[in-house]
Amino acid sequence: SPCRDTATLTPAALAPLRALRSSHTDKRDYGHLFIVGGSRKYPGAVLMSVQAALRSGAGLVTAFVPESLAPVFAAQVPEAIWHGMAESPGGGLALEDLPVFRERVSEKTSGTANATALVIGPGLSRDRESFALVTEILRINENIPVVLDADALQSDIIASGKAPRILTPHAGEYQRVEAAIPDGAVVVRKGPLTLIEHSGRKYISPFGGPVLARGGSGDLLAGMIGGLLAQAPGALLHAACRGTVWHGMAADCLARAHGQHAVRTTQLLDFLPEVLRGVS
Ligand code: AMP
Ligand code: MG
Repeated sequence: SPCRDTATLTPAALAPLRALRSSHTDKRDYGHLFIVGGSRKYPGAVLMSVQAALRSGAGLVTAFVPESLAPVFAAQVPEAIWHGMAESPGGGLALEDLPVFRERVSEKTSGTANATALVIGPGLSRDRESFALVTEILRINENIPVVLDADALQSDIIASGKAPRILTPHAGEYQRVEAAIPDGAVVVRKGPLTLIEHSGRKYISPFGGPVLARGGSGDLLAGMIGGLLAQAPGALLHAACRGTVWHGMAADCLARAHGQHAVRTTQLLDFLPEVLRGVS
């Protein structure tokens, strides 16, 4: 239950997201999010994270997914850059393509800026090679802030490397990794009430309801937080709080419009603009 060291988040947390873009800008001013995930076992999760990230205002979203999925995803969501990675025998991401990722993460070409934030985990599956790949990605990544979600929430993965990080565990994932959470991490403890913890301070989001109790809700949240982080890579706590409030308020709008039952998770995305219109 909320106590003295816990602040309750309000819609005012979203006010900065309403600021108009300057006319003298291009996509590189709004960050470049890299999303690493996907497997033959869970193909849809990373697709939902990418769709959410594209709605967050990020300038560019590049997704690193198993190569057999990339063409299908590109046909579904052409706004993202889809990068097919070699597949492990288990249908996950093979370790052999680490150099490809390393090259891309630091690339600065005319069309694309280098990564300003990473999301790792949606649809990753529990594949030994995928785990090895994302552990190495965290080790070579010195300072790009990262969101770790879903199957990337393993004790030895979340402690790898030194880059700033946001963890987004649901109750079961939190139990699994609690003892290994590194100091300084922003932790989004998801549930019927979501609690965001950072350096002993706690923020609670009262938004969202049982309409979110369906597959894909967390994948959308990870993509939104990642997209916000890509736009302001130094502001981890802001990205976590704003993403959580925006996601929860959109869920409330979805439930008001269509009820809690006969909806698809991705319909939440269509209410994101309405949420921003309503906050002062
Ligand atoms: P995941 O289990 O990773 O898909 O994440 C589920 C998402 O839905 C989190 O953001 C939860 O906070 C949210 N959620 C699930 N069930 C409820 C509920 N009953 N009330 C409010 N939010 C919920
Ligand atoms: Mg999840």
